[in-house]
Amino acid sequence: MFPPSPDNKYGIAIVGGGVTGLTAAWKLHAQGHRVTVFEQSDRLGGAISTMHRDGWLVEHGPNSLMESTPLDVLLTELGLQAERQYATPAAKNRYLVRDGRLVPVPLGPHQLVSTPLFSLRTKLRILAEPFARARVGPADLSLAALVRGHFGQEIVDYAINPLVAGIYAGDPEKLSTKYAFPRLWEVAQTHGSLIRGQIAAMKARRARGEKPVARIVSFARGLQTLPNALAAALPPATIRTRTAVVSLTPGRPWKLVSRHDGLAGTDEFDAIVLAVPAATLAQLPIGSSGARPLAPLEQVEYPPVASLFFGFRRDQVAHPLDGFGALVPEVEGRSVLGVLFSSTLFPERAPAGHVALTVYVGGTRQPDLARLAPEELRPRVLADLRELLGVRGDPVFSHATFWPHAIPQYNLGYERFLDAITLAETQHGGLFIGGHVRDGISLVNCIAAGGRLAEVASQYLASRA
Ligand SMILES: Cc1cc2nc3c(=O)[nH]c(=O)nc-3n(C[C@H](O)[C@H](O)[C@H](O)COP(=O)(O)OP(=O)(O)OC[C@H]3O[C@@H](n4cnc5c(N)ncnc54)[C@H](O)[C@@H]3O)c2cc1C
Repeated sequence: MFPPSPDNKYGIAIVGGGVTGLTAAWKLHAQGHRVTVFEQSDRLGGAISTMHRDGWLVEHGPNSLMESTPLDVLLTELGLQAERQYATPAAKNRYLVRDGRLVPVPLGPHQLVSTPLFSLRTKLRILAEPFARARVGPADLSLAALVRGHFGQEIVDYAINPLVAGIYAGDPEKLSTKYAFPRLWEVAQTHGSLIRGQIAAMKARRARGEKPVARIVSFARGLQTLPNALAAALPPATIRTRTAVVSLTPGRPWKLVSRHDGLAGTDEFDAIVLAVPAATLAQLPIGSSGARPLAPLEQVEYPPVASLFFGFRRDQVAHPLDGFGALVPEVEGRSVLGVLFSSTLFPERAPAGHVALTVYVGGTRQPDLARLAPEELRPRVLADLRELLGVRGDPVFSHATFWPHAIPQYNLGYERFLDAITLAETQHGGLFIGGHVRDGISLVNCIAAGGRLAEVASQYLASRA
């Protein structure tokens, strides 16, 4: 049986039960709107997915998020503040791989002078950069081009390339500074120097009473706590899992066709919020003629990523694991993009006497590696861990997750996708689109996107009243 329509003389449909859609649904519900969430899979959370097994806590997708105002507000609204967990202080240390070994990232000018990560020439260039005057023009630049202009190629190879692998699993030569790193772009536009701009931004944070560097956050039961709490705060009848939205017809009301267990059904709504990946947006017919106004989004690059979780006895790993983790520059020629020291960040991710590591493979750098079967990939990854961290023997626990389309790449030219989204919204009153395709890829960006979508949908309904 197709589930009966909730008794909502219209209301708002939220398509997508990831963190963006659930946040939008919660905010609208809290304002007194009727909402219905459509989620094609049998679970809520989208990319957020936590597994508990044999004393291990495995995050299949995102591992943590950054402390921030949108998160703080949401946790207060949901009564979740007490469950928030901060990463241990050791997480402030980070490592980069150079010449086959882990080197700490310098945390201040003194460490910069002595670090073996960069040549003397590069260090002198870093020290001189605060005196730079040149500002970038209005035309977008790749992140690599921007940074190369300020600091030279060695910083691109040994700092920016691994950093981007850790955030986007992407390529700094292709990623747009303007869209992928908007705050850095603003700094580049307003200050001659990126270092002076960053210092000014940290001072501004301090003046607002915030920590100069945001803390890393999760929950004792893992990130799934957040979508679970959002879902629990909504009336059960408002959430329809295993229900894929397959077409929309604009009008007053909108008609929404969905499929549940192979059966199609139609519902009517005052407004539609789309919080889904680019592929869904691209394929969605909007209008009676079957037109797909968001078809250009088929071209958004979403490289695959494999996430491998390993548990070892503490005595199997020689490295002290005293940090957030290690990122691997492409020029080092390894199989892994990076490794998180998961149980250093949050000790309860491993049973007593054990450690947990989360390794990412693939991205734009080596998409074919991510597609390998876990039994083929595992030995390659373990070989890297042996050489880099001094791991001995086989893991006592392991789990692999494959993300065929992990993270959208905000590459140069991304504005054409954003323009298509804006045009679709302009042409169809009552349609609102957001989430990781449009508003930024981090969980905090997506939480903020949920708030933004709720606000614009609510304003639209008020303007019609
Ligand atoms: C491996 C990995 C690691 C990451 N690590 C981090 C991290 O450590 N920190 C961080 O801040 N961010 C991280 N991210 C990014 C972050 O997790 C995502 O950007 C964010 O979760 C996206 O949320 P969303 O709600 O916009 O989309 P999604 O989570 O993708 O949710 C969209 C939902 O829409 C549903 N859907 C699709 N089509 C339809 C349809 N036709 N009808 C109904 N439902 C549909 C999908 O099933 C899905 O549940 C990571 C992402 C990945 C993949």
